[in-house]
Amino acid sequence: MKPLIVANWKMNPNTLAEAEQIFNSVAEGIKEIKNTEVVICPPYIYFSIFNSQLLGDIKVGAQNSFWEEKGAFTGEISLPMLKGLNVEYVIIGHSERRKYFGETDEMINKKVLSVLKQELKPILCIDNMAQLKKDLAEINREEFKKIIIAFEPISAIGTGNPYDLEGAEKMRNLIKSVLEEETPILYGGSVNSQNAAGFIEKAGFQGLLIGGASLNPKEFIKIIGSLEKN
Ligand code: PEP
Repeated sequence: MKPLIVANWKMNPNTLAEAEQIFNSVAEGIKEIKNTEVVICPPYIYFSIFNSQLLGDIKVGAQNSFWEEKGAFTGEISLPMLKGLNVEYVIIGHSERRKYFGETDEMINKKVLSVLKQELKPILCIDNMAQLKKDLAEINREEFKKIIIAFEPISAIGTGNPYDLEGAEKMRNLIKSVLEEETPILYGGSVNSQNAAGFIEKAGFQGLLIGGASLNPKEFIKIIGSLEKN
């Protein structure tokens, strides 16, 4: 499988013009890539940019979704809405959703189930094995093949201190031991162009979830370039 590189723009940037600039630079910079699958997860409000011809092989993801399909849920976005907007992937259970928006494992489990039901691809973010087990409750093993797991140690997210490779590899093996062989496992947490390849080549991850560095087109393109070479 090609490494899966997921850009999480979080609540950035502040204007549509800036979002267009970042997207156009990235699309231009990676148009020759062949060995890496790239997904960009912008704030919902910028999805319109992702209909452009420049999209090429770049895939679009959402940073969150709600489990109900429609109704009186002020401020929420449903999966059918996202499906109408080219969205293929949905990040679920990011540590910032858990921390600032009170998302519990029970809620995250409902979200994973709803994303699978809509035949989109959930990228489930976890910090530890207890979360993984609770977030995948009631999901049968066959469905595990359709889920992407992102190991995102809280200590490494947005801190500039990536997890050590050895520890990350151990965690990857542990996660793998309870999933199906086909389930891709990504690493996320302070990835940059200097350390990206190590998480794939040495620690054995199938891809990366990238926050801060994905907003800097030069750095993001460099990260992808560092994986293409191998
Ligand atoms: C993230 O937001 O999932 C993340 C990994 O952020 P950063 O790359 O900035 O640590």
